[in-house]
Amino acid sequence: MLYINGEWVEANSGETYPVLNPATGELIKETAKGGKSDAEAAIVAAKEALSAWSKLTAKDRYLYIKKAADILRSRVESLSRTITMEMGKPLAESAGEVQLAAEYLDWYAEEGKRIYGDTVPASSPTKRILVLRQPIGVVGAITPWNFPIAMIARKIAPALAAGCTVVIKPAESTPLTAIEVLKAFHDAGLPKGVLNLVHGMPQEIGDAMMESPDVRKITFTGSTKVGKELAKRAADTMKKISMELGGHAPFLIFEDADLEKAADGVIASKFRNAGQTCVCTNRVYVQKNISEQFADILTEKMSKLVVGNGLDTGITIGPLINENAVKKTVEHVEDSIQKGAKLLVGGKKPEGEQFKNGYFYEPTILAHATHDMKIATEETFGPVAPLFDFETEEEAVALANNTVYGLAAYFYTNDVSRIFRVSEGLEYGIIGINDPLPTVAQAPFGGVKESGVGREGGKYGIEDYLEYKYLSLELN
Ligand code: ADP
Repeated sequence: MLYINGEWVEANSGETYPVLNPATGELIKETAKGGKSDAEAAIVAAKEALSAWSKLTAKDRYLYIKKAADILRSRVESLSRTITMEMGKPLAESAGEVQLAAEYLDWYAEEGKRIYGDTVPASSPTKRILVLRQPIGVVGAITPWNFPIAMIARKIAPALAAGCTVVIKPAESTPLTAIEVLKAFHDAGLPKGVLNLVHGMPQEIGDAMMESPDVRKITFTGSTKVGKELAKRAADTMKKISMELGGHAPFLIFEDADLEKAADGVIASKFRNAGQTCVCTNRVYVQKNISEQFADILTEKMSKLVVGNGLDTGITIGPLINENAVKKTVEHVEDSIQKGAKLLVGGKKPEGEQFKNGYFYEPTILAHATHDMKIATEETFGPVAPLFDFETEEEAVALANNTVYGLAAYFYTNDVSRIFRVSEGLEYGIIGINDPLPTVAQAPFGGVKESGVGREGGKYGIEDYLEYKYLSLELN
């Protein structure tokens, strides 16, 4: 179902499409296949709702957002099941994602109360300068399937708190989670038109958003390819953009690191969500004198990962999102082995009746990876960790930076001087130092280089939804 102007509606075309469970291939539900005219109606609704919503006090907007967050929390069990069925991650990860989404809403509900303007010293005794912060207007939010609730929350929380209205386009594989988010806001009594949901035909919905002069901002999380296309098109109506795109995260392990913790860190950062996050580790660099020892420790810890249907108890790795994702993973592993990598763990699809109709791949470790392998430059988005050797700190930082991406990087060391040198040298937006999971609502998330523009989270994340207005006043 689409949600436009406070009502649940079918697509104008009357068409639907199937939402499938990647663990079983089974149909979960048919849902509306929205297109351009549906998105246009949603934009009109958002535009009409803007004036009243932006004029509410920050406290009033807080009450709606906070209430929706509480409703989401109260529905964590059913929401987690929906997430797991739609995109495969284990239930515990889904529940964690629901909590994170609620935290984004809580945090920005509060932050909306702190949107301060300025008074500025004037150039003349009879003049006064004031700077107002105002909502940018209607926002188009396009989100991916890998965090089907948190990515929506991370965009709508600051947008709503700032006084913007929003048209959301979730990924086509995860509309049911998005519908649940909108239900929570509906049940919180959100005024009609403030949030709208359209899914079905990405190209058509994207066209409506990009062509409309009323959409003043596009916030996108997804592939670098689509992000670049949208960024180019945003120029036509000079929309403000935030782009959170692909990554190719390096994970550096220095000889002085706690190797047990580093191995746990690699597992947490590489294998959560079956390797399908934009901040997942893609390249593990290990200082040469400890590389064999580290590989042994890591290999041993891999036995705690259990592949299966995310709805089942004890599962830590669910299926990948679709067949293409498995194909890419297989291709990266085969290419690496052909070019000399040594397979330490995994390296195949799991066998057994329960895996037959799902998109499963075993968590995999490859040693002796080299930079001529596809896995060294392309984002795998699957559960494969390639281990590279390095000799010196300078070499490690140079290798880590040798990519077009710049989203997240991780390193493990206990040398405080090195912590500063390496942090300053890494060309990345997010750095986890002895920390594989840095994402929280109050910190800025986002990348440099081809990983995107803008930041989401914290006091920085609300900036993208605000404009400055300069008032120059001459006294009588
Ligand atoms: P992924 O490979 O992770 O699916 P995409 O960039 O294809 O990444 O998808 C991220 C989001 O962008 C999804 O919501 C998808 O439907 C949407 N999308 C894809 N193509 C377009 C487009 N041409 N216009 C607008 N949105 C699009």
